Amino acid sequence: MAQFPNTLKQAIEWLSTFGKDSDGGVTRTLYSKTWREAQDALKKWMEGRGFHTYYDSIGNLFGRLPSDDAEAPTILVGSHVDTVKSGGKYDGAYGVIAGVLAINHLYEKFGKPKMNLEVVSLCEEEGSRFPIACWGSGMMTGVYSLNDVVGLMDSEGVNFLDAMKESGFHCQNYSLRNNLHAFIELHIEQGPSLEKLDKEIGIVQTIVGQKRFRITVKGETNHAGTTLMKWRKDPLHGAVKMILSLYEASMQYDDNLVATVGQLFVAPNVPNVIPGQVDFTIDARHPVESTLIHFYERFSREFFLLGKELGLEVELSKWHEVLPVQMDSKLNDKVLNICCEKGISYHVMNSGAGHDAQLFTRICPAAIIFVPSRAGISHSPFEYTSHQDLETGLKVLTQLLYELAY
Ligand SMILES: [Zn+2]
Repeated sequence: MAQFPNTLKQAIEWLSTFGKDSDGGVTRTLYSKTWREAQDALKKWMEGRGFHTYYDSIGNLFGRLPSDDAEAPTILVGSHVDTVKSGGKYDGAYGVIAGVLAINHLYEKFGKPKMNLEVVSLCEEEGSRFPIACWGSGMMTGVYSLNDVVGLMDSEGVNFLDAMKESGFHCQNYSLRNNLHAFIELHIEQGPSLEKLDKEIGIVQTIVGQKRFRITVKGETNHAGTTLMKWRKDPLHGAVKMILSLYEASMQYDDNLVATVGQLFVAPNVPNVIPGQVDFTIDARHPVESTLIHFYERFSREFFLLGKELGLEVELSKWHEVLPVQMDSKLNDKVLNICCEKGISYHVMNSGAGHDAQLFTRICPAAIIFVPSRAGISHSPFEYTSHQDLETGLKVLTQLLYELAY
């Protein structure tokens, strides 16, 4: 058992050796060899600490500390160990490791809990190998079924179901998880708020809603030298004005509204040709759905007006939408009280990023606890959270599980 870690710090370093890249990052994509090795190692680590472990048929890994009461519900805690390409060692991994250490500590100190305590290492939270995020939690909560992955391919053309089988999972008779009393996820913030406010713990109230759009602006492609400015129907001119109006409109709302133009496609994309078509994307997020709708109606109205003014054809399509999700207020109150009692500074906040916990809100009360991310950096080898902050998060999680399960 000597190779297994004993402390939080050791465990984070230990898990990061599975899939370690030469640039200091970690790559463990779903159903890859390194991902499976990491899951198997976690399983053995938990077994060494007395957990009852098992995989479900898609590869979610569980470690259970059962109560003596056969009827007792379960408190599930966890996160994910899949990463983006060259990601950091804390994103996801921290929540799984902290869950194991918290439950182990409680067992050693207080014996068996009144409610079952269970850790889960969920699969494909990131959606970085296959275009489906929160696959593991989505299956457990009935958001997804096997049909949702049929035909999905990774960037190398490997089929989802083949990759799953290759990794040893066959998704047979998948049944929804029931009898959960709560789901708790401890995670790095992946943003700069806690660091900027000098707070140790973030209590997530809402996971923001998202809407993504694709805007197509069509004009007339022509010669860059012979077409006078006043004769042009230049879609890039239109797109620039639209993007500017989008940014200006976004500043008229509260700080929680964020809008991003992340992709711009110019056709034919040649230096001496007036473009004929420009496409761009918008990712807009806010914790209140009605605000997002108001923003969308405002910028789309403006886009069509600009199109008309410049003689351009404008098409707008919404291709992705996630409604805002409220985390459980009673669990949040408990976390807040724990922080107050222990003299830990906290900040009640929203999460601009999605997490597995939001899927669990469909079947049980769920909470997300954040610890600071240095400079707000994540999904990068430079992702970092201080040892002290990681320990503070573990302390809060341990106390919360104690209050819920003992
Ligand atoms: Zn994560």
